Order: sequence, then C-alpha cells, then structure tokens
Amino acid sequence: MKNKIVFLILSLIFIVTISITAIFVKKIYQEKIIPVNEKIAIYEKLEKKENKIDKKIQNEIRESKNIQKQTKENQNTKQELEKKLNKYQVTYNKKVIYLTFDDGPSEYTMDILNTLDKYNIKATFFVTCSDNLENISKEIIKRGHTIALHTCTHKYSYVYSSDEAYFEDLNNISNLVYKYTGIKSKYVRLPGGSSNTVSRAYNLGIMSRLSSSLHEKGYKYYDWNIDSNDAGGANSEQEYSNVIGALQNSDRDINMVLMHDTKVSTKDSLDGIIKDALNLGYTFSNINEYTKEVHHGINN
Ligand SMILES: [Zn+2]
Repeated sequence: MKNKIVFLILSLIFIVTISITAIFVKKIYQEKIIPVNEKIAIYEKLEKKENKIDKKIQNEIRESKNIQKQTKENQNTKQELEKKLNKYQVTYNKKVIYLTFDDGPSEYTMDILNTLDKYNIKATFFVTCSDNLENISKEIIKRGHTIALHTCTHKYSYVYSSDEAYFEDLNNISNLVYKYTGIKSKYVRLPGGSSNTVSRAYNLGIMSRLSSSLHEKGYKYYDWNIDSNDAGGANSEQEYSNVIGALQNSDRDINMVLMHDTKVSTKDSLDGIIKDALNLGYTFSNINEYTKEVHHGINN
C-alpha cells in the first residue's frame, strides 16, 4: 500500500514534470523557433526580390550602354554631315570669288601669297614648269591654296600641235607637282582658255577634242568669267577697276577671276581688290571638289 502511494506520487510528479517541460518546449518553440522560420521565409522572399532587381539593373545597364553606343554613332554621323554642309556653304554661298593665278610661280608669287594670308583668303594657282616651282608649290600647299595645272611649257605652237603633245606637256607639269607636293591635281586651265583661236594655226578642232578628252581622263577644266586683263597690259589701277567694276555688276554665284602671278600689276592691285570685294559682300574660295566648272564656248 505504501509502495503504491509512493508510485502514484512519483508518477504524478513525473507527469507534472513532463507537462511542465512540454509547456516550456512549446513556449520556446512558439517564441523562438517560429519567428526564426518566419524570418528565414521573409529573408528568402527578399532575396528573390533582390535577384529580380539585380536582373532589372543589369538589363538597364545593358540598354544604357546600347543607347550610349547609338548616341556616339549618331554624333559621328552628325559631324560628318556638318563637315559636308560647311564645304557646300563655302561653295554655294551666293557671291563667291575664285581668284585664279596663271603662268607662275614667279618672283611675285610670294608677295601674292602674303597678301592672301593677310586676309586669310584661299585661291587657286594654275602653275607651269617655272624655275621656282619646287619651293613655291610647297608654299602654295602649306598655306592651304589649291594647286592646279596649266601645262609645263605654255608654248601654244607645241601644246596645240597635237592631242598627244598637249597631254605629254600636261603630264610633265602634273608629275612635277606630284613630286614636289604629293598632290595629283585634277584641275586644269587650258593655255589661252578653251575658247582660244590661236590653236587654229596649229591644229584644227583640237580644242573640241581636248575639252572632251580632259573629262574622259577625269580632269575638270576651268575658264573664267572676269578678266583682270593683266596679261593684256593693264596697270594696277586698271586691273583694280576691271575686277571691282565687273564684281559690282555681277549677279553670278561663281565669279572666276583670271589673273597672272607673273604680273607686277597683279601683285600691286591685289590688296585693294580683296579689300573692296569684301566690302561688296563677297566671300572667297579656292577651287575644290564641289566647284562647278566654268567654261567658255569652244571656237576651234
Ligand atoms: Zn596662261
């Protein structure tokens, strides 16, 4: 009996202890374990969200890189177009003067180059095989002008004796210019102009043939529409009024002025001509790939 009571009491104590322990364990589980699990779940959710955001950011970075690349390409295209536009503006601006100097280089060419520099004006030199071609042709290019071809000898009786003679003479000056400057010029002026009649004495019909074979060979030839008449003996005052008078009455876009850098009257009148042409609202340009050809009518 006594043993039974002890057993019962011990059992009771055991049950109570187990119950109390169970209650504690449950309480600990509810208070500690569940919150931790919940936290883990929240953390995992956050991690997923973060991954999504990371992916989005990477996509956006990729897109922005593409946009940057595209922008750069567009800028390059824009710059190229602007360059072309500027060239066209120089050429197609109304009232443009192309000063052209034939038959040189000569002892006056350096002075002429200095006057052009004074006004920051570019011009075109149709050169021949003169003694100082080497030095002056380099100087012409260095200062940003156009070097063009007028024939080597400029002897009518030779260059207009046959088509072959003309092109041989043209090749001689072309090769020299190339040797001294590295430039293969494609701009030509025919001695006496394409309208000359002096060639009739040497070869009938040669100007008609040369004018078309020049084009076939890839050359452009330029006559003039304003003559300073320096070759005809005008002094510097006459030369000034020949050019400025013609410019005052001109309604042309392209004013191609014939001058000779072998003439002292040209050296002396150039400063005044440029100054007053600028006052008349003209701009200046040198012959370039966009310059339309100026042609006379052919008379032989
Ligand atoms: Zn000439």
